[in-house]
This record gives sequence, C-alpha cells and structure tokens, in this order.
Amino acid sequence: MDAGWAREIEAKVRAGERLDYDDGVALYDCDDLAWLGGLAHEVRTARNGDVVYFNVNRHLNMTNVCSASCAYCSFQRKPGEKDAYTMRIDEAVRLARAMEPQGITELHIVNGLHPTLPWRYYPRSLRALKEALPQVALKAFTATEIHWFERISGLPATEILDELIDAGLESLTGGGAEIFDEEIRSRIVDHDTHWEDWSRIHRLAHDKGLRTPCTMLYGHIEEPRHRVDHVLRLRQLQDETGGFVVFIPLRFQHDAAGDPRNRLMTQPMATGAEVLTTFAVSRLLFDNVPHVKNFWVMHGLQTAQLSLSFGADDLDGSVVEYKITHDADGFGTPNEMTRDQLLEMIRDAGFRPVERNTRYEVVRTFDGPDPVRRDVPQPMMA
Ligand code: SF4
Repeated sequence: MDAGWAREIEAKVRAGERLDYDDGVALYDCDDLAWLGGLAHEVRTARNGDVVYFNVNRHLNMTNVCSASCAYCSFQRKPGEKDAYTMRIDEAVRLARAMEPQGITELHIVNGLHPTLPWRYYPRSLRALKEALPQVALKAFTATEIHWFERISGLPATEILDELIDAGLESLTGGGAEIFDEEIRSRIVDHDTHWEDWSRIHRLAHDKGLRTPCTMLYGHIEEPRHRVDHVLRLRQLQDETGGFVVFIPLRFQHDAAGDPRNRLMTQPMATGAEVLTTFAVSRLLFDNVPHVKNFWVMHGLQTAQLSLSFGADDLDGSVVEYKITHDADGFGTPNEMTRDQLLEMIRDAGFRPVERNTRYEVVRTFDGPDPVRRDVPQPMMA
C-alpha cells in the first residue's frame, strides 16, 4: 500500500467518511501494522473510550448430532456415533443452573442440525430454561438453525421466531455466517444456508426488535478480498436495519488431534499479525456497528489482549464449555475463565472493564488498570 493511499484513508477515517472495497483490500496489504492498529484504535476509542465490555455467560450445546459436515467443524457427530449426544431438556436446565452461583447473565445456545429431533424440542427447551433462570438472557440458535427449523417444521421463519421469542429468546447468535463469498463458501460449508437466507433471517429478527451479533470465520482458504466483501455485505444490511450490535471475527482453528472431520488441516492458521490486521481492518470498514468482539477462546489470551488496541472493545466472555470450534483446538487455550480472571486480563491490557448484558446494557463497572499490579512480574498466558 503506497504512502499516498495510506494518507487518503487516514483522512477519510478522520473525516468520518466511509471506506470502500478497494480501501479494505489495500488495508489488508498494508505492511505497517502499528499504523493500521493506531488508526483502528482511534476509531475504537472514539466510540467506546477506554472501556472493554465483557459478559458472564455459559455456552450450551444441546446436541452435537448434525446433518451437515462443514469442513472446519470437529464438533458434529452423525447419529449412532459413540460420542454423539442429545441432552434431555432437564439435563440442559441442570447444566445451566450449575452456573447460577457465578452470576451468569446469558446462555449462548448453539446446536447441530439434528435430523430427527422435532421442532417442538427447541421452544420447549427455551421455555424450560427461562422458567428455571428468568434473570438469564437466552441468546440462541444461528440463522442456519432457524433455516433448519423452517425445513423440519414446515413453518416460515417469521412464525418460528415469534414462537421462540414467546418462549424467551432474546437474541439469535451470530454464527453460520463463515464467509459469504459463494465460491469459498461452497468449499467449506455443507448446508443450504447462504447469504440470502442468513441475511433474510437476521433482517426478520431485527424487524421483530431483536438485536443480533454477526460473525466471520477467517484464516482458512479465503483471501483478504473475501473478508472485505463479507464485512461490506454486513455493513449494507446494518444500514438497512441497524440491528447488529457487534461484529465478531472468528479465527479458524486446526484440529491438533488430527480429527478427520476437520478437512482444512493443510491450511495454515492465521498468524498473530494477521489476526490483528483482521480486527483493525474490520473496525475501520464496519463503521456502523457499535462493537467489535474478540472471542478469546479462538485467538488465545495474549493475542486477544493485543486486539483491544487494534479495534476490539469487547471480550467474550466467562465461557464454560465452548465446543463448536474449540473441539478443533488442543493448543492450550482454556475454554473457561472466571470473572476475576477476565478483569485481570482487561486491566493488564490497559483498559477499564465493564460487565454488560446481552443488550450491552451496563451491569457493573470496575476500576481501570492497577498500577501496583504492574510492578510485579505476571505469568505468561496462552
Ligand atoms: S458448523 Fe454447525 S452446521 Fe456445520 S457441521 Fe458443524 S454443527 Fe453442523
């Protein structure tokens, strides 16, 4: 990227002008990571100050049985496989209740596309969870799952969403987006939910008053131009609905155990520099989304800390048992942190932690970095 273009982009960003596709591709080509991060940090700080948001949640995967076999997924099992499982509703409630003493404010529920479970299982599960934990927000189902429910129920998405909202649904999850470019998508995604249906379902959810996250799975066979295209599609939809509350870049992970379900093992994973570039470019391009989140489980703790100075302002979360892509990890990142560990991680990165709920309303504020703590050596984190 030549210096003239860099100056032009800098001027556009500072004037609040929107960056375009070519700017995005050029930014990915930029070899001055410090400059790129600094620009993204300016935007992030103008929007969110020195705050890093987090929430205390639990991930719940009620079944790993799935009709699809997406190339990046080590979570899915076929019916009859020895470690395939489907929870009874009371079991899901028991697991959720076990987190109650830790003050969870959100359950994040994502499942496989089970070939024979009836549609009624899903609203019944939400009703039971809501009844057991009325104070906890239910963020549940990807657009892919809602599309699947259309197929197994014969109902249109609008009726499905109405029933799920009536049962306690507060937000969809942002998954199933992966990469929207059709050519790349056809090589990694093994179900029928693509941009048209993914965007239709989120648009519908926004029309009904839900605010939803959106994601991008990167660092596999896509190129930077596909990431730019992905973000610009979401930005356009956000112009129309204003319903996205956060953008979450998710790094593709290898399967260290060599699980053959993960068919992208020959692809190198995104390096730390590529991770930081992706966060920074996303923050600069996606100018109408309030928050950019780092799901630290997929990036490692130290890269996640660094990303807070490259555009991210949100860390998810106090996660317990994240499985969909973490089954493919095995590189030593934990899948669980307590609230206190998260507070330390945010303060050590130089920011002020704010606990939020699913709607990004403030639950609790905390003091910023502790200068005394910086006087003593701190352990390395994975
Ligand atoms: S990513 Fe989701 S839909 Fe694809 S195989 Fe895994 S569980 Fe199934």
